[in-house]
Amino acid sequence: MSFVYQANPQRVIFAAGARSQAGEELDRIGVSRAMIVTTPPQADTAAAFARLIGERAGIVYPGAQMHTPTNVTEAALTAVSSVKADGILAIGGGSAIGLSKAIALRTDLPQLVIPTTFAGSEMTPILGEVERGVKKTQRSPKVLPETVIYDPELVATLPLHVAGPSAMNAMAHAVDALCAANANPVTSLLAQESIRALGRALPRLLADPNEAAWADALYGAWLAGTCLGTVAMGIHHKICHALAGAFDLSHADVHCIMLPYTAAFNRNTTPDAIQRVARALDRDDTPSALYDLMLKVEGQPSLKAIGLTRAAIEKAADLAMVDPYGSPSRVTREEVLQILFAAYDGERP
Ligand code: NAD
Repeated sequence: MSFVYQANPQRVIFAAGARSQAGEELDRIGVSRAMIVTTPPQADTAAAFARLIGERAGIVYPGAQMHTPTNVTEAALTAVSSVKADGILAIGGGSAIGLSKAIALRTDLPQLVIPTTFAGSEMTPILGEVERGVKKTQRSPKVLPETVIYDPELVATLPLHVAGPSAMNAMAHAVDALCAANANPVTSLLAQESIRALGRALPRLLADPNEAAWADALYGAWLAGTCLGTVAMGIHHKICHALAGAFDLSHADVHCIMLPYTAAFNRNTTPDAIQRVARALDRDDTPSALYDLMLKVEGQPSLKAIGLTRAAIEKAADLAMVDPYGSPSRVTREEVLQILFAAYDGERP
């Protein structure tokens, strides 16, 4: 046996109603004038947090956008200096958290993050930014949030057409972590537990969402994000980032549509890991199990259905070959094209 495992230093609080602790958690990381970052539809939620944290609120900034465009970050930095913010409170999904991280990268300000989707970005030292249609991803300890508060009551407002793909996005983190070249016993255990929790939660969320199902899904998302923050991303993430960044597609929907097909590819490259996914889902075949989940949650279950052309698939394959993420290594353009065209047609893998 041989492995390297390095944990990321973060404080995590998980409880229904835990959002009420935001003020004291800001005090703990030394923030007295917070910039409250979110996306435009969640401006009211951010305003409620401003009331909750009282005089620690510097400004509510509901300007975050999907894929963290660098021009949006530049505008936010002007707001940071004009209010003399000494920290960030990010509330929302991966888009709000992405802007928070992009500011932290450039200012080193401390971050308290309160996630409201299952994207998992809060647990990673990873930042993806889009400039002129190309998504570039980097790792830096500067972007890792100091504190994360998970409050399942906050995800319960997610519309199911957002919640389902978002939970599949989390599932993709866990599957990729099991298949990673630098997978280790800790992340593999976390990933299996994550897949179990998400696999249990998803059908309940779709049929009859209750408190326990939302909490299970958020628990699975936390575990998946923890894995993603610790191991190398693989071909699944590379293809999704190339596609979503180039064509401004929903990050979660692309992950959800691609996952059965990248799992089918990984069934050949990392068969043991893919078998562990099947066991966690209590099924015989991983790609088929993921395909069934994908069909349940995705309104437009193929790349063709979301409007991509065959020319777009060729372009995405080119982009996916630039700066590979590392595991599994040496994927050819031909293999990437095969994966993409399978997801384009949307047949059972
Ligand atoms: P998102 O943050 O854009 O959220 C999707 C939509 O749901 C938005 O309109 C948002 O306002 C709304 N929303 C969020 N929470 C809600 C709630 N509880 N109730 C009602 N509406 C709510 O999308 P996402 O999928 O969470 O994040 C995608 C972004 O995150 C992408 O930019 C992606 O690159 C990034 N990401 C980064 C990492 C990382 O580790 N760096 C990991 C995963 C995702």
